[in-house]
Amino acid sequence: MYSTRFEDLGLREEILRAIKEAGYVEPTPIQARAIPEILARKDLIGIAQTGTGKTASFVLPMLQILSSGRGRARMPRSLILSPTRELATQTARNFEIYGKYLHLSMALLIGGVGMGAQERLLDKGVDVLIATPGRLLDWYERGKILLGGIEILVIDEADRMFDMGFLPDVERIISLILGRRQTLLFSATMPPEVRRLADRFLNNPVEVQVARPATTAETVDDVVVEVTSDRKKDVLIELINKENIPKAIVFCNRKRDVGSVMRHLQRAGLRARDLHGDLEQTQRQATLDQFTAGEIDFLVATDVAARGLDITDMPVVINFDVPMNPEDYVHRIGRTGRAGRRGRAFTLATPEEQRFLAAIEKLTKRQIPRLALQIGASDRKVDADAAQAVREPVRAAEAVTGRRRRAAASAATKAAARPVREPAGTRSPRSRVTTPVPQREAPVIAFGGHVPRFLANPAPLPMRKAS
Ligand code: AMP
Repeated sequence: MYSTRFEDLGLREEILRAIKEAGYVEPTPIQARAIPEILARKDLIGIAQTGTGKTASFVLPMLQILSSGRGRARMPRSLILSPTRELATQTARNFEIYGKYLHLSMALLIGGVGMGAQERLLDKGVDVLIATPGRLLDWYERGKILLGGIEILVIDEADRMFDMGFLPDVERIISLILGRRQTLLFSATMPPEVRRLADRFLNNPVEVQVARPATTAETVDDVVVEVTSDRKKDVLIELINKENIPKAIVFCNRKRDVGSVMRHLQRAGLRARDLHGDLEQTQRQATLDQFTAGEIDFLVATDVAARGLDITDMPVVINFDVPMNPEDYVHRIGRTGRAGRRGRAFTLATPEEQRFLAAIEKLTKRQIPRLALQIGASDRKVDADAAQAVREPVRAAEAVTGRRRRAAASAATKAAARPVREPAGTRSPRSRVTTPVPQREAPVIAFGGHVPRFLANPAPLPMRKAS
């Protein structure tokens, strides 16, 4: 049995006080199991995904271990490798919250952060360094950082590192770290490449696995739009118009559909681009950057093409096809509704795809509300609750730019519009079911645009003295 009390895990009073102030009553399963092992200085593989409390499961014991001793100039005492800036920043925030009563310092090496302040921190000596692999190697190669003093190394979201092509950099970094160290590897899944990395570099690790929550994010309002396959592309345009969708990622199941869906969107006057699986990651990233910069509004992709790209902040996800693998549904729609914002997800489903939909509803243990669009008419029939779920105030700026594009798109679709036809037997009996949309509260997410204090102010971590 594992303890259900933070007090029994062996953490010092200053950390317990910060945990209490964060409002956490009891450790999550990954915390209850990992914290004592890490405090016992064992290597650890944590198989857990975001949302399980995995970040605190390494941050809390690291604070405890690092609270004795001191960092030397340019020689950080611990290193956390994160695949993305977003995750690195969240992890830094965790150190800030739980380390508020300790005298530890931290630096962050990620793109987009002014480096002067971080360099000054490193020069003074930091206890915690959080970095993305490429940025860290860049600093190492420029002689700005020494890796000989690392006592604890964390490789966070190792499967995502693999997806993003970062594993060679991670291996290089590990091989640069000399001497004795404790290594902690966290990953939501264990693909063979990640397993090999763990086998190679971890020393007799303890493995802790927590159940993968098969749930969709609570900040996403998802609906199904039932269509027939011959109408799918037109319904897609209609959906974009009627639901005021300014930007979205559109997922197709098959590579061959990506191009034709993109062209259909373009013909409707929308700025669409494909994320082609045959392109190099750097080229795909360039397309994604154009999307982020507002030069493209619709990305049409397959699951494979979207893999490895940090597409995490989509306002809307559209499934042009119902994913055949139910876990892909959770993954796809997880790309919206991040950082405290509400996201919307629409899934076009033909009668032939109902069985995939059933598998998704079984996995997620909830029924996805149906939205009935009336194609080609000025009004639409909408399942009232579903409408409420998907309607979201369109931000003023989006409304302005969106209106122009929608006007063009609308002109293009009017030609294609036909009256609603619902061939007998093509609508499932459930299609008119008003599925109550659970009124879910947006979870407290620590990073909704928050700039960690240590970034705003290049002083060491806010170290209030323990009273
Ligand atoms: P993570 O899996 O690290 O991304 O954490 C997911 C969310 O759980 C974060 O918002 C944390 O603030 C929160 N959290 C972490 N530990 C606990 C806990 N013991 N009790 C309640 N919430 C927690």
